[in-house]
Amino acid sequence: MSKNLFIALEGIDGSGKSSQAKLLAEKLEQAGHKIHLTLEPTTGHIGSILLDILKKKIKSDHRTIAALFAADRLEHLLNEEAGIVKKLEDGYTVITDRYYFSSYAYNGAHSDMDWVISLNKMSAQVRSPDLNIFIDVPPEVCMQRINANRATTELFEKTDTLTKVRNKYFEAFDKLKNEENIFIVDGHRSISAIAGDIWDKVSGLL
Ligand code: ADP
Repeated sequence: MSKNLFIALEGIDGSGKSSQAKLLAEKLEQAGHKIHLTLEPTTGHIGSILLDILKKKIKSDHRTIAALFAADRLEHLLNEEAGIVKKLEDGYTVITDRYYFSSYAYNGAHSDMDWVISLNKMSAQVRSPDLNIFIDVPPEVCMQRINANRATTELFEKTDTLTKVRNKYFEAFDKLKNEENIFIVDGHRSISAIAGDIWDKVSGLL
């Protein structure tokens, strides 16, 4: 049996992360893997506060938001029953829709990125992904997709913010290129073409 991996999907809002996470999970299941599909912010106690902030129901300083994301991530990893560490120990391949590169890019767009990276050091020590997949889509295309699907937008969902966040992703990838396994895929294509590239990359790690 090939090994169980920890895979993080990254990208700006509307880039197709959740669509690709589901397709990758299906393919891995067909190949005989047990899959745990998860996402950030979580639906746990800290994640719920973040969801309210993203939906603009409550307001908070961007530094506080960065710290909450780091805390939510530790809970996501370390929860005794359903945490990523436990799931990996139990033999699941874990696919997460967002992990710490999202913090580096989104929180790093509003606060010092090195500070955000240091806030997430413990998560990186506990478990870094075997692969970070970045689905690269132009921010204008993402905003069109978001506006076509929803009547309201979330905190970061503006073209200029998403442009800044995309740039921050690339800044973070450059900073951490020696420590992290990063795969950038052109996401401005058909869902199946993107899924094909992702599968080629992931199957090479199994
Ligand atoms: P994310 O999880 O990154 O926010 P989603 O997977 O929810 O993105 O996709 C956002 C929207 O864009 C959805 O309506 C989805 O069906 C659509 N979508 C996803 N990937 C593509 C693609 N490659 N081409 C066109 N539309 C896409």
